[in-house]
Amino acid sequence: MSQRDYYDVLGVSRSASDRELKKAFKKLAMKYHPDRNPDDPAADQKFKEAAEAYEILSDSEKKSAYDQFGHAGVQGMGGGAGGAGFQDFNFGDIFGDIFGDVFGSRGSGSRSSRGQDLQYNLELSLKEAILGVKKTIKIPVDKSCTECSGSGAKPGSSPVTCSQCNGAGQVRMQQGFFSVQQPCNACRGEGRIIRDHCKTCNGAGVNQETKSLSVNIPAGVDNGDKVRLSGEGGAARGGHTGDLYVAIQVDNNNLFERDGRDLYFEAPIPFEIAILGGSINVPGLESKIALKIPPYTQTGKIFRIKGKGASSVRDTRRGDLLCKVVIETPVNLSKNQIELFKEFSQSVEAEEHHPIKKSFNQASEAFHKK
Ligand SMILES: [Zn+2]
Ligand SMILES: [Zn+2]
Repeated sequence: MSQRDYYDVLGVSRSASDRELKKAFKKLAMKYHPDRNPDDPAADQKFKEAAEAYEILSDSEKKSAYDQFGHAGVQGMGGGAGGAGFQDFNFGDIFGDIFGDVFGSRGSGSRSSRGQDLQYNLELSLKEAILGVKKTIKIPVDKSCTECSGSGAKPGSSPVTCSQCNGAGQVRMQQGFFSVQQPCNACRGEGRIIRDHCKTCNGAGVNQETKSLSVNIPAGVDNGDKVRLSGEGGAARGGHTGDLYVAIQVDNNNLFERDGRDLYFEAPIPFEIAILGGSINVPGLESKIALKIPPYTQTGKIFRIKGKGASSVRDTRRGDLLCKVVIETPVNLSKNQIELFKEFSQSVEAEEHHPIKKSFNQASEAFHKK
Protein backbone atom coordinates (compact mmCIF):
# COMPACT_ATOMS: atom_id res chain seq x y z
CA MET A 1 0.00 0.00 0.00
CA SER A 2 1.47 3.32 -0.94
CA GLN A 3 1.49 5.84 1.85
CA ARG A 4 0.30 9.37 1.30
CA ASP A 5 2.69 12.23 1.62
CA TYR A 6 2.44 13.66 5.13
CA TYR A 7 2.22 17.22 3.88
CA ASP A 8 -0.60 16.23 1.56
CA VAL A 9 -2.35 14.49 4.43
CA LEU A 10 -2.33 17.70 6.44
CA GLY A 11 -2.90 19.83 3.36
CA VAL A 12 0.01 22.14 4.03
CA SER A 13 2.99 23.23 1.99
CA ARG A 14 6.43 21.94 2.67
CA SER A 15 7.42 25.24 4.16
CA ALA A 16 4.53 25.31 6.62
CA SER A 17 5.41 26.72 10.02
CA ASP A 18 4.87 24.80 13.26
CA ARG A 19 1.82 26.92 13.84
CA GLU A 20 0.37 26.11 10.42
CA LEU A 21 1.01 22.39 10.95
CA LYS A 22 -0.70 22.53 14.29
CA LYS A 23 -3.64 24.38 12.88
CA ALA A 24 -4.02 21.99 9.95
CA PHE A 25 -3.82 18.97 12.20
CA LYS A 26 -6.26 20.40 14.69
CA LYS A 27 -8.78 20.98 11.96
CA LEU A 28 -8.55 17.41 10.75
CA ALA A 29 -8.54 16.05 14.28
CA MET A 30 -11.71 17.95 15.13
CA LYS A 31 -13.38 16.61 12.03
CA TYR A 32 -12.33 12.99 12.21
CA HIS A 33 -11.87 12.30 15.90
CA PRO A 34 -13.39 8.90 16.81
CA ASP A 35 -15.43 10.53 19.58
CA ARG A 36 -17.27 12.52 16.98
CA ASN A 37 -17.48 9.74 14.41
CA PRO A 38 -18.41 6.61 16.30
CA ASP A 39 -18.32 3.43 14.19
CA ASP A 40 -16.97 5.20 11.14
CA PRO A 41 -13.90 3.29 9.94
CA ALA A 42 -13.19 5.80 7.17
CA ALA A 43 -13.06 8.69 9.65
CA ASP A 44 -10.99 6.58 12.00
CA GLN A 45 -8.50 5.91 9.19
CA LYS A 46 -8.32 9.60 8.34
CA PHE A 47 -7.80 10.48 11.97
CA LYS A 48 -4.95 8.02 12.35
CA GLU A 49 -3.38 9.20 9.14
CA ALA A 50 -3.48 12.83 10.26
CA ALA A 51 -2.17 11.94 13.72
CA GLU A 52 0.72 10.04 12.22
CA ALA A 53 1.57 12.88 9.83
CA TYR A 54 1.44 15.41 12.65
CA GLU A 55 3.48 13.24 14.96
CA ILE A 56 6.28 13.11 12.40
CA LEU A 57 6.11 16.68 11.12
CA SER A 58 5.83 18.29 14.55
CA ASP A 59 9.06 16.67 15.70
CA SER A 60 12.00 18.48 14.15
CA GLU A 61 14.21 15.40 14.12
CA LYS A 62 11.61 13.15 12.54
CA LYS A 63 10.58 15.91 10.17
CA SER A 64 14.08 16.32 8.84
CA ALA A 65 14.42 12.53 8.40
CA TYR A 66 11.14 12.56 6.50
CA ASP A 67 12.09 15.58 4.40
CA GLN A 68 15.30 13.89 3.40
CA PHE A 69 14.28 10.27 2.90
CA GLY A 70 10.50 10.32 2.77
CA HIS A 71 8.57 7.53 4.44
CA ALA A 72 11.63 5.30 4.43
CA GLY A 73 13.35 7.68 6.81
CA VAL A 74 10.68 7.48 9.48
CA GLN A 75 9.42 3.95 9.07
CA GLY A 76 7.88 2.76 12.29
CA MET A 77 8.42 6.13 14.02
CA GLY A 78 4.86 7.24 13.57
CA GLY A 79 3.45 4.02 14.93
CA GLY A 80 1.90 3.25 11.53
CA ALA A 81 -1.76 3.48 10.67
CA GLY A 82 -2.53 0.33 12.60
CA GLY A 83 -0.12 1.02 15.38
CA ALA A 84 -1.01 1.38 19.01
CA GLY A 85 -1.12 4.76 20.62
CA PHE A 86 -3.55 6.74 18.49
CA GLN A 87 -6.50 5.46 20.46
CA ASP A 88 -5.01 7.36 23.34
CA PHE A 89 -5.23 10.67 21.51
CA ASN A 90 -7.80 12.46 23.51
CA PHE A 91 -9.48 15.79 23.02
CA GLY A 92 -8.56 16.83 26.50
CA ASP A 93 -4.86 16.28 26.82
CA ILE A 94 -3.00 16.04 23.55
CA PHE A 95 -4.98 18.71 21.77
CA GLY A 96 -5.63 20.80 24.82
CA ASP A 97 -2.97 23.37 24.17
CA ILE A 98 -3.81 23.86 20.54
CA PHE A 99 -7.53 24.19 20.80
CA GLY A 100 -7.56 27.84 21.61
CA ASP A 101 -7.63 29.30 18.15
CA VAL A 102 -9.34 26.67 16.08
CA PHE A 103 -12.75 28.26 15.93
CA GLY A 104 -11.43 31.75 15.49
CA SER A 105 -9.50 30.97 12.35
CA ARG A 106 -11.07 30.47 8.98
CA GLY A 107 -8.14 28.21 8.06
CA SER A 108 -6.54 28.83 4.71
CA GLY A 109 -7.40 25.25 3.73
CA SER A 110 -6.52 25.69 0.09
CA ARG A 111 -3.51 23.74 -0.96
CA SER A 112 -0.83 25.56 -2.80
CA SER A 113 -0.51 24.31 -6.35
CA ARG A 114 2.37 21.95 -6.63
CA GLY A 115 4.04 20.35 -9.61
CA GLN A 116 3.92 16.64 -10.11
CA ASP A 117 5.98 14.35 -7.95
CA LEU A 118 8.16 12.22 -10.16
CA GLN A 119 9.73 8.87 -9.55
CA TYR A 120 13.07 7.57 -10.73
CA ASN A 121 13.87 3.89 -10.31
CA LEU A 122 17.45 3.37 -9.23
CA GLU A 123 19.05 -0.04 -9.22
CA LEU A 124 21.69 -0.65 -6.61
CA SER A 125 23.91 -3.58 -5.84
CA LEU A 126 23.38 -5.11 -2.43
CA LYS A 127 26.69 -3.65 -1.33
CA GLU A 128 25.71 -0.14 -2.39
CA ALA A 129 22.33 -0.46 -0.71
CA ILE A 130 23.83 -1.58 2.55
CA LEU A 131 26.90 0.62 2.72
CA GLY A 132 25.38 3.70 1.09
CA VAL A 133 26.60 5.30 -2.12
CA LYS A 134 26.65 8.56 -4.00
CA LYS A 135 25.05 8.23 -7.44
CA THR A 136 24.62 10.56 -10.33
CA ILE A 137 21.32 10.16 -12.09
CA LYS A 138 20.18 11.73 -15.31
CA ILE A 139 16.58 12.82 -15.51
CA PRO A 140 14.72 14.30 -18.48
CA VAL A 141 13.35 17.78 -17.84
CA ASP A 142 11.15 19.98 -20.00
CA LYS A 143 12.72 23.38 -20.56
CA SER A 144 10.71 26.16 -22.08
CA CYS A 145 11.96 26.64 -25.66
CA THR A 146 14.20 29.70 -25.84
CA GLU A 147 13.79 30.02 -29.61
CA CYS A 148 10.02 30.64 -29.51
CA SER A 149 9.75 31.67 -25.83
CA GLY A 150 7.57 28.64 -25.25
CA SER A 151 4.83 29.55 -27.73
CA GLY A 152 5.68 26.74 -30.15
CA ALA A 153 5.24 29.12 -33.08
CA LYS A 154 8.08 30.08 -35.39
CA PRO A 155 9.67 33.34 -34.22
CA GLY A 156 7.89 36.20 -35.95
CA SER A 157 4.66 34.25 -36.30
CA SER A 158 2.01 33.57 -33.70
CA PRO A 159 -0.63 30.90 -33.17
CA VAL A 160 -4.00 31.63 -34.77
CA THR A 161 -7.40 31.06 -33.26
CA CYS A 162 -8.90 27.75 -34.38
CA SER A 163 -11.75 28.39 -36.85
CA GLN A 164 -13.42 25.08 -36.08
CA CYS A 165 -14.17 25.87 -32.44
CA ASN A 166 -13.58 29.62 -32.47
CA GLY A 167 -10.91 29.20 -29.86
CA ALA A 168 -13.08 27.33 -27.35
CA GLY A 169 -11.19 24.06 -27.76
CA GLN A 170 -14.50 22.25 -27.44
CA VAL A 171 -17.17 21.46 -29.99
CA ARG A 172 -20.77 20.36 -29.54
CA MET A 173 -21.75 17.11 -31.20
CA GLN A 174 -25.28 15.82 -31.65
CA GLN A 175 -25.63 12.22 -30.52
CA GLY A 176 -29.20 11.07 -30.92
CA PHE A 177 -31.23 13.32 -28.67
CA PHE A 178 -28.23 14.55 -26.79
CA SER A 179 -25.67 17.12 -27.55
CA VAL A 180 -22.29 16.41 -26.05
CA GLN A 181 -19.16 18.46 -25.74
CA GLN A 182 -16.01 17.05 -27.20
CA PRO A 183 -12.49 18.35 -27.56
CA CYS A 184 -11.99 19.98 -30.93
CA ASN A 185 -10.20 17.75 -33.42
CA ALA A 186 -8.74 20.55 -35.46
CA CYS A 187 -6.77 22.12 -32.60
CA ARG A 188 -6.71 19.09 -30.26
CA GLY A 189 -8.60 21.05 -27.66
CA GLU A 190 -6.10 23.89 -27.50
CA GLY A 191 -8.26 26.51 -29.20
CA ARG A 192 -5.27 27.76 -31.18
CA ILE A 193 -3.45 26.40 -34.16
CA ILE A 194 0.20 26.95 -34.89
CA ARG A 195 0.68 27.27 -38.62
CA ASP A 196 4.43 27.79 -38.64
CA HIS A 197 6.02 25.53 -36.10
CA CYS A 198 9.13 26.55 -34.27
CA LYS A 199 11.91 24.42 -35.74
CA THR A 200 13.70 23.96 -32.46
CA CYS A 201 10.85 22.45 -30.44
CA ASN A 202 8.60 21.30 -33.32
CA GLY A 203 5.77 23.35 -31.92
CA ALA A 204 5.80 21.81 -28.47
CA GLY A 205 7.04 24.99 -26.81
CA VAL A 206 9.37 22.92 -24.67
CA ASN A 207 12.55 21.00 -25.30
CA GLN A 208 13.56 18.00 -23.37
CA GLU A 209 16.93 18.24 -21.73
CA THR A 210 18.77 15.96 -19.40
CA LYS A 211 19.67 17.11 -15.99
CA SER A 212 22.28 15.40 -13.86
CA LEU A 213 21.54 15.10 -10.20
CA SER A 214 23.76 13.82 -7.50
CA VAL A 215 21.96 11.62 -4.99
CA ASN A 216 23.30 10.52 -1.66
CA ILE A 217 21.87 7.11 -0.93
CA PRO A 218 22.00 6.54 2.82
CA ALA A 219 23.41 3.28 4.14
CA GLY A 220 20.88 0.57 4.79
CA VAL A 221 18.25 1.23 2.11
CA ASP A 222 16.20 -1.70 0.91
CA ASN A 223 13.77 -2.53 -1.89
CA GLY A 224 10.92 -0.06 -2.01
CA ASP A 225 12.66 2.66 -0.01
CA LYS A 226 12.45 6.10 -1.53
CA VAL A 227 14.83 8.99 -1.24
CA ARG A 228 13.20 12.34 -1.78
CA LEU A 229 14.87 15.13 -3.69
CA SER A 230 12.85 18.12 -2.69
CA GLY A 231 11.83 20.41 -5.53
CA GLU A 232 13.36 18.27 -8.28
CA GLY A 233 10.04 17.03 -9.61
CA GLY A 234 7.75 18.51 -12.25
CA ALA A 235 7.12 22.22 -12.53
CA ALA A 236 3.69 23.76 -12.08
CA ARG A 237 2.51 27.02 -13.54
CA GLY A 238 2.90 29.59 -10.83
CA GLY A 239 3.33 26.96 -8.19
CA HIS A 240 5.99 25.01 -6.42
CA THR A 241 7.86 22.29 -8.20
CA GLY A 242 7.08 18.77 -7.11
CA ASP A 243 9.54 16.37 -5.60
CA LEU A 244 11.58 13.66 -7.22
CA TYR A 245 11.44 10.31 -5.50
CA VAL A 246 14.33 7.99 -6.12
CA ALA A 247 12.88 4.51 -5.64
CA ILE A 248 15.41 1.91 -4.65
CA GLN A 249 15.62 -1.46 -6.31
CA VAL A 250 18.27 -3.78 -5.01
CA ASP A 251 19.75 -6.17 -7.57
CA ASN A 252 19.23 -9.82 -6.93
CA ASN A 253 22.40 -11.56 -5.95
CA ASN A 254 22.75 -15.28 -5.62
CA LEU A 255 24.86 -15.18 -2.50
CA PHE A 256 23.02 -13.33 0.24
CA GLU A 257 19.51 -13.35 1.50
CA ARG A 258 18.65 -10.20 3.39
CA ASP A 259 16.36 -10.32 6.37
CA GLY A 260 16.18 -6.81 7.75
CA ARG A 261 19.61 -6.17 9.19
CA ASP A 262 20.83 -9.73 8.92
CA LEU A 263 22.43 -11.26 5.87
CA TYR A 264 22.19 -14.97 5.46
CA PHE A 265 24.24 -17.19 3.18
CA GLU A 266 25.38 -20.79 2.77
CA ALA A 267 29.01 -21.81 2.52
CA PRO A 268 30.38 -25.23 1.59
CA ILE A 269 33.05 -26.65 3.84
CA PRO A 270 35.28 -29.56 2.83
CA PHE A 271 34.71 -32.88 4.55
CA GLU A 272 38.17 -32.81 6.14
CA ILE A 273 37.70 -29.32 7.64
CA ALA A 274 34.37 -30.44 9.08
CA ILE A 275 36.27 -33.19 10.91
CA LEU A 276 39.59 -31.59 11.72
CA GLY A 277 38.50 -27.97 12.02
CA GLY A 278 40.16 -25.12 10.18
CA SER A 279 39.38 -21.80 8.60
CA ILE A 280 37.41 -20.84 5.50
CA ASN A 281 37.10 -17.52 3.71
CA VAL A 282 33.60 -16.16 3.49
CA PRO A 283 32.35 -13.06 1.68
CA GLY A 284 31.91 -9.99 3.87
CA LEU A 285 30.50 -6.77 2.46
CA GLU A 286 33.75 -4.85 2.73
CA SER A 287 36.21 -7.70 2.36
CA LYS A 288 36.60 -11.42 2.83
CA ILE A 289 36.28 -12.70 6.36
CA ALA A 290 38.13 -15.71 7.78
CA LEU A 291 35.64 -17.92 9.58
CA LYS A 292 37.00 -20.42 12.08
CA ILE A 293 35.42 -23.85 11.85
CA PRO A 294 35.80 -25.95 15.01
CA PRO A 295 36.52 -29.70 14.75
CA TYR A 296 33.49 -31.99 14.40
CA THR A 297 31.29 -29.36 12.79
CA GLN A 298 28.02 -30.78 11.50
CA THR A 299 26.40 -29.75 8.26
CA GLY A 300 23.69 -27.10 8.73
CA LYS A 301 25.43 -25.38 11.60
CA ILE A 302 24.94 -21.62 11.49
CA PHE A 303 27.80 -19.32 12.44
CA ARG A 304 27.01 -15.75 13.39
CA ILE A 305 29.49 -13.07 12.43
CA LYS A 306 28.50 -10.07 14.52
CA GLY A 307 28.19 -6.58 13.16
CA LYS A 308 28.92 -7.44 9.52
CA GLY A 309 25.35 -7.38 8.26
CA ALA A 310 23.24 -4.48 7.04
CA SER A 311 22.18 -1.31 8.82
CA SER A 312 18.91 0.53 8.35
CA VAL A 313 18.39 4.08 7.14
CA ARG A 314 17.42 5.21 10.62
CA ASP A 315 20.09 3.49 12.63
CA THR A 316 23.66 2.80 11.66
CA ARG A 317 23.99 -0.23 13.92
CA ARG A 318 24.88 -3.17 11.70
CA GLY A 319 23.16 -6.54 11.90
CA ASP A 320 24.95 -9.85 11.58
CA LEU A 321 26.18 -12.18 8.87
CA LEU A 322 24.72 -15.63 9.29
CA CYS A 323 26.71 -18.37 7.63
CA LYS A 324 25.20 -21.81 7.33
CA VAL A 325 27.83 -24.41 6.54
CA VAL A 326 27.14 -27.38 4.32
CA ILE A 327 29.62 -30.22 4.14
CA GLU A 328 30.72 -30.95 0.62
CA THR A 329 31.16 -34.59 -0.25
CA PRO A 330 34.42 -34.94 -2.18
CA VAL A 331 34.04 -36.20 -5.76
CA ASN A 332 36.36 -37.51 -8.54
CA LEU A 333 38.36 -39.65 -6.16
CA SER A 334 41.10 -41.98 -7.37
CA LYS A 335 41.09 -45.72 -6.67
CA ASN A 336 43.70 -45.19 -4.05
CA GLN A 337 41.68 -42.49 -2.30
CA ILE A 338 38.57 -44.71 -2.38
CA GLU A 339 40.59 -47.50 -0.73
CA LEU A 340 41.72 -45.11 1.97
CA PHE A 341 38.13 -44.07 2.57
CA LYS A 342 36.97 -47.67 2.82
CA GLU A 343 39.60 -48.32 5.40
CA PHE A 344 38.64 -45.17 7.23
CA SER A 345 34.91 -45.92 7.14
CA GLN A 346 35.45 -49.34 8.71
CA SER A 347 37.36 -47.69 11.49
CA VAL A 348 34.46 -45.33 12.35
CA GLU A 349 31.59 -47.81 12.21
CA ALA A 350 31.03 -47.78 15.97
CA GLU A 351 27.94 -45.92 17.21
CA GLU A 352 29.95 -43.58 19.39
CA HIS A 353 31.18 -41.80 16.24
CA HIS A 354 27.66 -41.05 15.03
CA PRO A 355 25.52 -39.68 17.85
CA ILE A 356 23.05 -38.02 15.46
CA LYS A 357 22.52 -41.24 13.55
CA LYS A 358 22.03 -43.05 16.84
CA SER A 359 19.28 -40.77 18.09
CA PHE A 360 17.66 -40.78 14.67
CA ASN A 361 17.56 -44.58 14.64
CA GLN A 362 16.05 -44.62 18.10
CA ALA A 363 13.32 -42.17 17.07
CA SER A 364 12.67 -44.20 13.96
CA GLU A 365 12.28 -47.43 15.96
CA ALA A 366 9.91 -45.75 18.38
CA PHE A 367 7.82 -44.42 15.51
CA HIS A 368 7.27 -47.85 14.03
CA LYS A 369 6.37 -49.45 17.35
CA LYS A 370 3.37 -47.17 17.81
ZN1 LIG B 1 10.29 26.53 -29.88
ZN1 LIG C 1 -10.42 24.04 -32.34
